[in-house]
Formats: sequence, structure tokens, C-alpha cells
Amino acid sequence: MNRTILAIGTHPDDIEIGCGGTLALLFEQDYKLVFVIVTSGEEGSIDRPKAHLKNIREDESVNSGRRLGAKEIIFLREPDGLVQISKETKTRLTSIIREIKPLTVFTHARSDHFPDHRIIHDLSMAAITVAAGPWYQDAHGNPHHVANVFGYEVWNPINEARFINDISEHIETKIEALKLHTSQTNNVNYLTAVRGLAAYRGAMSMNGKFAEAFEVLILGGIV
Ligand SMILES: [Zn+2]
Repeated sequence: MNRTILAIGTHPDDIEIGCGGTLALLFEQDYKLVFVIVTSGEEGSIDRPKAHLKNIREDESVNSGRRLGAKEIIFLREPDGLVQISKETKTRLTSIIREIKPLTVFTHARSDHFPDHRIIHDLSMAAITVAAGPWYQDAHGNPHHVANVFGYEVWNPINEARFINDISEHIETKIEALKLHTSQTNNVNYLTAVRGLAAYRGAMSMNGKFAEAFEVLILGGIV
């Protein structure tokens, strides 16, 4: 059985915020986790030089990804704040999907209106679509169908939460992973927000003390 999970994030901490608890659970269940981080978040500070911050944030991602059980972390190093759906970005992501052949993909929710997140949602769906067919020669590898795609929430709660996953057993792992993004948590105490959102999702769904909410973008697609 295919047990590869691909998580795609625009910035180095998006995956942890959106689906870190669920990924920690899947890792425990012996799934192989691969992360794609599209930008290295070099714009995430008003006073640190971009080249310096980029290195810091990639190091933080590696440490945090390891805490969640990521087997591989791929940095696309697209420019933070300026990423676009271009021939190059679409080809790169399509090639990665064909190469690692994930069963399931986690990406930004369709309803996330933060511009960069929305672009990466669209880029993910475009790459998943073209990866499946016997076309698009610019991307290498053989066609691969992704069976399931879930859209996660970062700072804009999704309004159509179709799948709520109980992460009560993994909330502390999620928070520990997030704490490793010290360049960000030192500026803003977003750990409180992350824990609060998980508590809200758990309470409102009556599905555990803490939960993560997802849009169901593709479920049980042809593989
Ligand atoms: Zn982000």
C-alpha cells in the first residue's frame, strides 16, 4: 500500500500550523512524510537581512520537520511574497509529485485569502491535476494520481470544514515543532493562537479536546 504523504507549505511554518498534529499521528502510523516548502520565509522579519533569515528559517524547518517525523524536506526557494504560478513553478511541483508519488497531499485551503497561501493552493491543485495524466512533458516522471487532497487552515479559519481530525494525543508534538520556529515565535506569540484554534475545532466538532480542520478537495480519487 502507498503510505507516502506530501505536505506543501508556502512558508516554513505553515505545515506545522495547518496539519502538524495530523502529520505526527500519520508518522506514528508508519506513513512516510515529505514536506515541500515553497518559499524560505525570508520576508518574515522587519529587521533581519533576508539572506540571513532564509538560512535561519530553513534550519528551523529541518528541526521542526524532524520533530514531526518528516523523512524529506524539499525547499523550492521561490521568492517570499512574490511567488507565482509560472511554467517553472508548475513544472517543479509536478515533477516532485510524479517522483515521490504521494497517496495524500495536504496543502493550503481553497478559502485561504492570504495571497501567497491562495497561490500555493492553486499551484498545488494545478500540479496534482497535470501530474496525473500522460501529458505535460516538461515535468519528468510517469503519471501519478493523488488519491486524497486536504486543504488546511493557517490564520484564516476555513468556512467549510469537511474533515475534522482529533489531534488530542499530538497537540504537544505540534506545539513543540512550532516552538522550533524561534525566529517567528519570538516576535508573535502565535502558539496561543494555534492551541486556541485546535481547541475551538475540537469543541465545536465534539471530536476530541484538540482537532485540526480541513477542506476535502479530493477524496478517493482514482489511483
Ligand atoms: Zn504562510
